[in-house]
Amino acid sequence: MYYPEPISKLIDSFTKLPGIGPKTAARLAFFVLNMKEDDVLDFAKALISAKRELSHCSICGHITDTDPCAICQDESRDMSLICVVQDSKDVIAMEKMKEFNGKYHVLHGAISPMDGIGPEDINVPSLINRLKDEEVQELILATNPNIEGEATAMYISRLVRPSGIKTTRIAHGLPMGGDLEYADEVTLSKALEGRREL
Ligand SMILES: [Zn+2]
Repeated sequence: MYYPEPISKLIDSFTKLPGIGPKTAARLAFFVLNMKEDDVLDFAKALISAKRELSHCSICGHITDTDPCAICQDESRDMSLICVVQDSKDVIAMEKMKEFNGKYHVLHGAISPMDGIGPEDINVPSLINRLKDEEVQELILATNPNIEGEATAMYISRLVRPSGIKTTRIAHGLPMGGDLEYADEVTLSKALEGRREL
């Protein structure tokens, strides 16, 4: 379909976002055209400042506008506990829960030999350095419950074992409010494996 160039550029930009196909991109582009000019300017400024003003914390790798990030700077948090996650979004999810008071380490990915991603390509070396410098007693491996996440957790656990630091893996199981009969086999077997005494 023919679009004037500014519109087709805008559509192209929207298609770069995850989950946005050409049809949705066109709908969004036309929506933007109908927005008030001030709102469009605010939107554009928000995009640019999010990109320019945010960076990754030099200690934990979490997305931040200060370095170190607010979590790493917070002395009331338990220094002996590090929760290892794949993504900054996972830190935000954990923080929402308001139950974890340790620190984090964001890997920015997971080990995936199929995609040529090894431990050096994600934030594993910086984690190992941290363990040398900080008095860490437990590493909670909260990578995703899929093949890559499991492989990453196993790899880190083996790497850390000689240091004597305890490594734990978050439990995987059934979602609350769910129904046993609708759970897939892997989830069900993981739930059984992670059972605990009441
Ligand atoms: Zn940090």
